[in-house]
Amino acid sequence: MSVPEPVLIRLKDAVGEKGLSTDRSEIAPHLEEWRGKYHGHSPILLKPDSAAQVSAALRICHETGTAVVPQGGNTGLVGGQIPFNGEVLLSTRRLNKVRSIDESGMTMTVEAGVTLAEVQHQAAERHLMFPLSLASEGSCSIGGNIATNAGGTHVLRYGMTRALVLGLEVVLPDGTVLDMLRALAKDNSGYDLKQVFIGSEGTLGVITAATLKLFPRPDSSVTALAAVPSPTDAVKLLGAMQAQTGGMLSAFELMPRIALEFVTRHIEGTRDPLDAPSPWYVLIEASGGRHANLEASFEDGLAAAVTAGLVSDAVVASSATQAAALWKLRESISEAQKREGASIKHDIAVPVAAIPAFLAKATQAVCAIVLGARPVNFGHLGDGNIHFNFNAPGAGNDPGFLAQWDEVQQAVHDIVKEFGGSISAEHGIGVMKVGSLPHYKSHEELDAMRALKTTFDPKNILNPGKVIPPVLRL
Ligand code: FAD
Ligand code: ZN
Repeated sequence: MSVPEPVLIRLKDAVGEKGLSTDRSEIAPHLEEWRGKYHGHSPILLKPDSAAQVSAALRICHETGTAVVPQGGNTGLVGGQIPFNGEVLLSTRRLNKVRSIDESGMTMTVEAGVTLAEVQHQAAERHLMFPLSLASEGSCSIGGNIATNAGGTHVLRYGMTRALVLGLEVVLPDGTVLDMLRALAKDNSGYDLKQVFIGSEGTLGVITAATLKLFPRPDSSVTALAAVPSPTDAVKLLGAMQAQTGGMLSAFELMPRIALEFVTRHIEGTRDPLDAPSPWYVLIEASGGRHANLEASFEDGLAAAVTAGLVSDAVVASSATQAAALWKLRESISEAQKREGASIKHDIAVPVAAIPAFLAKATQAVCAIVLGARPVNFGHLGDGNIHFNFNAPGAGNDPGFLAQWDEVQQAVHDIVKEFGGSISAEHGIGVMKVGSLPHYKSHEELDAMRALKTTFDPKNILNPGKVIPPVLRL
């Protein structure tokens, strides 16, 4: 799609000289996502620096039927932020102000383009905490986190992004500004409209600012890597450690042996901290107040788990540096998997108790399709969310293996459905899974989603083709 000259002139008027670029070299990095999986094209990059500018630009786009793709930090994993059909790209990078921080009320109002790391930093400066934590936090934006309802490693304790947002400012596709920046924990004055935009992946409105919920910063935390014989033992250990610490767990991450091997092979400065290999591991973190006596109850819990046979060995970090080294093992898995060669990935959720049975059945199904596929299934066991990944049988990039992606994905997603699960636990639908959605969501639910889309975006100008599958006519 090209943008006619008169529209370009009006857009330039709306956002000013600094707010619009047609420079190909400036636009280029916005068109490719970090893995190089998706490439787009766009004639115009909009860089508004206020909600008023976003509103003025969208009003013009709405009037002229010009399609727009919102983009934050461009770290999304399902292609939602990429303009595939020459849409105008609207970057939130210049919406980068921290508007206010209320220390005693523990809230912060920031613009959408502020990075997640900056939000965390601003909170920490005040001895508070914003608990959302992702490996992409240095680049991703809070607006993108909200638009994707991002998850990460602390969902077990603090919930998804949705649970951390008190208020939103959103510009609708026709330019209407919805000011819902309320800092209220309780507000039952009608529909909680902000929830519709959280997780809508830029298809219903452009998020320009948010009021976030902050938390007291925990003064003490304990981190351990425990070797467990099986996922069944890991699930039992989760219950036992939650009971033992009075619900103070802030992370519970499952890793298979092969993940640890990939990490120690490819990532500099990492090592296996335990003496003997184990088929599975969990990284456990608990956090609380200075006087919580957390360490003692945590270690008692681990000792009881060893006696019960749930844990074969464990290391408890004795310093922040050691804790960081344990976290590095978990956080480097994606990078190590990449260096090991081609992989087929899924981001699924099933009820926590069903994880062991799901892993057994789905692994068998994949290995029946790809002989020798190497399962690297890891993730947020405490949330029922597994990154159900497989590396090719041999190291390196094997195009034959990747050609089986669709077949493997369908087999996995069908089993997810059997277990009452979700085909996208935290990364969203974007373009990657839009074709699969009709198989895993009812017509009725999809029609309700379409009705919402039509209400907010009757001309379908905002992120068209993402999230909502076209109606199939037989
Ligand atoms: P973008 O990639 O720019 O956009 C993502 C989607 O949101 C697009 O559909 C876009 O149109 C829309 N969007 C962006 N900003 C706005 C806005 N202001 N208003 C309306 N729509 C908007 N995700 C997790 O959930 N958990 C993880 O643990 C996790 N780990 C990751 C690790 C790595 C190394 C990487 C690269 C990614 C990871 N992600 C994870 C995915 C990604 O970081 C998140 O989806 C993140 O929330 C995207 O933020 P962003 O600013 O980069 O958004
Ligand atoms: Zn994850």
